[in-house]
Parts: sequence; C-alpha cells; structure tokens
Amino acid sequence: SEAAEDFVIDEKLINRIFKPREDFSHKGTYGKVAVVGGSYGKMGAAVLATRSALKTGAGLTFTLAPKCGYEILQISCPEAMFIEGGNEQIEDFKPESDTVYAIGPGLGTHEKTAKGLLEFLKGYNSPLVLDADALNIISKDHKNLKLIPQKSLITPHPKEFERLFGSTQNSFERLKLARKKAKELNIYIVLKDHHTQIVTPQGNVFYNINGNAGLAKGGSGDILTGILVSLLAQGYSEEDTCILGVWLHGRAADMAAEKYSKESMLPTDVINTFGDVFEELN
Ligand code: AMP
Ligand code: MG
Repeated sequence: SEAAEDFVIDEKLINRIFKPREDFSHKGTYGKVAVVGGSYGKMGAAVLATRSALKTGAGLTFTLAPKCGYEILQISCPEAMFIEGGNEQIEDFKPESDTVYAIGPGLGTHEKTAKGLLEFLKGYNSPLVLDADALNIISKDHKNLKLIPQKSLITPHPKEFERLFGSTQNSFERLKLARKKAKELNIYIVLKDHHTQIVTPQGNVFYNINGNAGLAKGGSGDILTGILVSLLAQGYSEEDTCILGVWLHGRAADMAAEKYSKESMLPTDVINTFGDVFEELN
C-alpha cells in the first residue's frame, strides 16, 4: 500500500529481532565480513569498524586495506585477516561472492580509490554497507547513485546526506527527501543524528531514541558500520540489521557513558561495552 508508517524502536521490537547464538554452530554459521577502508593517516577508522564487526559476532572478518595498514591491522585486530588493496590507498576492490562488504571508513577519496570503487559497484549486485568516504565518492556525480546495489544500507550523517541528495530547509524536509530516495533507489537510509532515523525502501521510518552526545566524536560512525556489516553477514534481514544495529550502538553508548562519562568515553569503550548489551539481550 501507499501509506508509509513510522515506528519508535523499543525493547519489545529488539527482543523480537535478536537471535541468540546457537549451540550447534561454527564460524561458518555467522558469515564472512569484509571491511573495506583505511588510507595513510586514516587507518584508525578501518581498525574501529573491523573491531566492531569482530565484537558483534561475525564468523570470519577480513579487512581490505592498503599495504601501509598491514601491521597496524594485524596487531590491533589479530582475529581479522588482512587483504591488501593498494599501497597508500585502496585501488583494488575485488569482490568474493560469499562475503558481505562494508566500504568507506577511512577510505579517502583519492581518484584511484574512486575509480576502483565505482568499477566495483558496476559489477556488484548484493546488498552492502556504504559509509563515509564511499558516500563522498558517490556524491561527486549524481549518476553514481544508481550504482548502489538494491537493498544496500547507506549510513550518512547530515553532511553526507546533503552531499548525496542535496540540502533541505529543515529535518522534516530532509526526512521527506530520504523517504523519496530510499524508495527510488530501493535502499535503506540510516540517517545518523541525535535520534537516528532508519528509512526503508517502503518509505517506513524507524526512530531510534537511545544513544547520547558522548558519541559526538570521530570514530562513532565507523563502529556503527562494523556492527551493521556483521549483523548482515549473520543472516539478519536488511531491515532488522538497521534496527538492531542502530539500537545496539546507542545502548552500548549509554552504558559506556555511565561507566566513563559522555566526555571521556571513546568509540573503543563503546565497542568494549557491546558484551554488556548482549548479556542483557540473552
Ligand atoms: P559519524 O558522524 O559518521 O562519526 O557518526 C556519528 C555517530 O554517532 C552516529 O551513529 C550518530 O547517530 C551518533 N551521534 C553523534 N552525535 C550524537 C549525539 N549528540 N547524540 C546521539 N548520537 C550521536
Ligand atoms: Mg562517519
């Protein structure tokens, strides 16, 4: 039907979505993730997204990053495997069919990276997570929007949203535009803000009301990207991934704020608090 609906994410919805880990399972049960990102001086973003995917339950996690990040990643994320995608920035985006991709954290917008990403998208048809510099590259030409695979998740903050789809007068108009674009492109738009809004291809909106200003720091978005790709690889639907992922991020942030304060909490502390959230859910 035409009528779009609005929902507020609550614990009842989260408990309905969350699937506890099964006893008779192995790493193959929980999917293969690849975080594609990092560039000279921005390797931390790839580290955060990778650690976040590891700490939210993905079965196997890879980081596709430039050679200059090899030691950084192997030391900071020993559970993840490294795939070299270039020297100082990624140029080579070779897809594996059984892997779920998140592209963008720390990626940079070098022209070789842009060329590689757009080539990759031309030949790729499975849902993936696009964030940060992947969105900034796509923004450079509005024709690129059509290259986003159907059912993909994009996670723009307000500035990235504006680069992608143009400016709006206020947040009400922005949401209206997001609804239009999510339908048109058949994608999920995770419009990150104080209260993040998830806009589905049907035009429905899920409002997230947890999370806090302790997240207003570089790196917070990168860990959301890691959560989302991990849940997607574990078999959650695109819609459930967005809802559970955004809520989990906010809930962990609220618990981290209690322990460390909003001022002092870091994205790394939020990652290290995921376990407390899973304990609550299980
Ligand atoms: P990014 O700008 O890509 O690092 O993403 C920032 C992340 O932190 C998003 O998930 C935002 O929803 C969240 N965030 C940033 N500032 C706030 C805030 N003041 N209140 C709640 N969440 C926030
Ligand atoms: Mg970001």
